[in-house]
Amino acid sequence: MGRIIAVANQKGGVGKTTTAINLAASLAAAEVNTLLVDCDPQSNTSSGLGLMKDPDRVNIYDVLMGAASSEEALQLTELEQLWLIPSHKNLIGANLELVDSERREYRLRDALAPLRDRFQFVVLDCPPALDLLTLNALVAADGVLIPMQAEYFALEGVSELLDTIERIRAGLNPGLMVDGVVLTMFDERTNLAQQVAEELRKYFGERLLKTTIPRNVRLAEAPSYGKPALVYDVRSRGAESYIKLAKEMLDRMTEKSSVDSGQSSGQDEVVADAAPLGPSTGESGEAA
Ligand code: ATP
Ligand code: MG
Repeated sequence: MGRIIAVANQKGGVGKTTTAINLAASLAAAEVNTLLVDCDPQSNTSSGLGLMKDPDRVNIYDVLMGAASSEEALQLTELEQLWLIPSHKNLIGANLELVDSERREYRLRDALAPLRDRFQFVVLDCPPALDLLTLNALVAADGVLIPMQAEYFALEGVSELLDTIERIRAGLNPGLMVDGVVLTMFDERTNLAQQVAEELRKYFGERLLKTTIPRNVRLAEAPSYGKPALVYDVRSRGAESYIKLAKEMLDRMTEKSSVDSGQSSGQDEVVADAAPLGPSTGESGEAA
């Protein structure tokens, strides 16, 4: 059964969409069937993969409202093993329209259930808000990938998200894990970036992924050509870093599943990684 990963951070512009597109493309390029679901009314993931606006195309809004199945919404992309369920600006209304409906937090989970066996990875791009759409993504997901920029107060910004994840674990989705925190638009040459990375490592421990994503103009240009970076310029640092990120995540999952099935990989950190949320050093408890 595949793994569903929500790329979430309620802060705007931290690299969620760039991460969702390029992680999914890198997974597909590694020959695993991958589905990318655009859960953001801004539809940046859809346009970033070259889908022109089309009011008649079946999209995630139709799926969440029960007007279409997730199967009917699938679009094959330029990459052989990457599929997309596109978004639509109407999705902004779903927050209100779903308020009184039954199982309103489970809409996405229920809709994706029939596809789970077909894809090894399902990547959900979330909007920059802790709204009902993000909630649906976190309830549908097995893991959360949190893109963050290395700046002061980075932890304060993310504590609301961590609280939300904790609440969801306590009720709607007990299996939800933090699969990783990835530093985006990272400039390793600055002291500030180094200091913040160090602080985040103390807090998140092994959940802070080793791969960092540098600021790279190719990553910003690629969506205007409707392509993931690895199709637009595979030799760019941006494309390379997301290929590395996908590899790191794939490796962790293989290690974790071998630990789970009792074949110890000899890496205790992987077990620590599977632990529920909370500060790894016990330093700053209020965000957990
Ligand atoms: P929103 O919260 O609005 O959904 P987001 O978190 O999805 O935003 P992105 O759209 O991925 O963030 O990125 C914000 C802007 O920064 C975009 O213009 C994107 O092209 C650019 N960007 C993202 N990551 C990088 C990077 N590593 N290097 C250069 N530019 C980047
Ligand atoms: Mg976005």
